[in-house]
Amino acid sequence: MPETVACMTGTSPDIAAQWARVRERLKAEVGDVEYRTWLKQIVLGPLEEDEISLFLPTRFLRDWVRGQYGDRLQELWRLENRFVQRVELQVQRVSDAAAASAVAVETPAPVEPESPAATPASLSEARHDLAAPLDTRFTFDSFVVGKPNEFAYACARRVAEKPSSPGFNPLFLYGGVGLGKTHLMHAIGSELTSGGRVSVAYMSAEKFMYRFIAAIRSQSTMEFKEQLRSVDVLMIDDLQFLIGKDNTQEEFFHTFNALVDAGRQIVVSADKSPSDLSGLEDRLRTRLGCGMVADIHATTFELRISILEAKAQASGVSVPSKVLEFLAHKITSNVRELEGALNRLIAHANLFGRPVTLESTQDVLHDILKAHDRRVTIEEIQRKVSEHWNIRLTDMSSARRARAVARPRQVAMYLAKQLTSRSLPEIGRKFGNRDHTTVMHAVSRVTELMERDAAFAEDVELLRRMLEG
Ligand code: ADP
Ligand code: MG
Repeated sequence: MPETVACMTGTSPDIAAQWARVRERLKAEVGDVEYRTWLKQIVLGPLEEDEISLFLPTRFLRDWVRGQYGDRLQELWRLENRFVQRVELQVQRVSDAAAASAVAVETPAPVEPESPAATPASLSEARHDLAAPLDTRFTFDSFVVGKPNEFAYACARRVAEKPSSPGFNPLFLYGGVGLGKTHLMHAIGSELTSGGRVSVAYMSAEKFMYRFIAAIRSQSTMEFKEQLRSVDVLMIDDLQFLIGKDNTQEEFFHTFNALVDAGRQIVVSADKSPSDLSGLEDRLRTRLGCGMVADIHATTFELRISILEAKAQASGVSVPSKVLEFLAHKITSNVRELEGALNRLIAHANLFGRPVTLESTQDVLHDILKAHDRRVTIEEIQRKVSEHWNIRLTDMSSARRARAVARPRQVAMYLAKQLTSRSLPEIGRKFGNRDHTTVMHAVSRVTELMERDAAFAEDVELLRRMLEG
């Protein structure tokens, strides 16, 4: 290893300062309440090669933070320090972690909340930071337009130019993961706020729910409502999260009506069209479909190439077109992964000062490419696991709770989390519309059992190997 890498190993004061900045950004993004409930307890560990370790006091917290904030933590770290490629979240008791690391930035309180909606440390803080800040990288200029997204792009532009025009209110953007919904929403927001006169509130549906629950608990729902109703533009991202959350849906419905009646603009995103979002209240679904509904389709090869070209050019590193074509062929699922792969190539090129070639690409992206060679689906996992324990496939989604079916179901959820890139709520939905907390529980339960029971661990490992092919 060259010296540049060796001197990055271990926890240096630099790393501590970077960590402090990562925390600050994350705090600004998620708000105080979530930060205190989940993230404050993270303790910085060492940086070894390209992997930074972060410690959490309990497995529950570790899984929750990994599921909800893992990707973002990684992105923020990469922005701070281009040597960091991976963030490894580990369970470690506070005292051990502090001893292992020279910089325990804060002394965490080792509490273990029972559910994600557990009472945050200070509820009144929920009122002060209503919306998440906009990501300045997500602009219309940095959005590459092609056939699959040109309609959604045009609608977003139109709303940014002339908010609240009839026919475009609400604007409902939908499409699969990583296809640019959040990017477009931020672009609308930045465009509108750049003039300074329009107030824009952007938040994920999940955050909307947390804010709402926090407001109820701190008896400040009136303020919450007033604040929401005072904005010119309200944007709610990933609305599918509100499925099954009836009270929150109700609140959103009323806010929605109040804003539209007052001539304000609403922008909503989801993974499906309003008519396909089963589990949403009918009247809400109807209202959501009343404005403009725009679909972002899966990327085409041409669009992937254009996106890669634009991003490579912006990075200043020269990437041969053969490499771009190779990536566009291999990574077809979503733009986020495509971008992640390219970023890693660029980081390596910068780090080692070597040109990017097809050969170095295969080497540097070995793990990503391997994962894309074989995509395991949740259905496959359910099938294999049911066969293995001789239960009916339908029991993967049934309500039966007998151990004989519940345990295999938990294993299937665990494997789904490990082997696919599906989020916890998405996995839950595939298992008879279970809540994401159930999936989270299954993951930690199986991890725990595997540690205690070698025969069980062997079973699970066997299944994993079979599925990975
Ligand atoms: P979604 O919200 O639909 O899951 P995002 O908006 O978060 O997806 O996009 C994932 C990543 O891919 C972001 O970094 C975004 O900037 C990038 N991205 C997606 N589509 C495009 C595009 N057409 N042009 C440029 N970047 C894109
Ligand atoms: Mg998004």
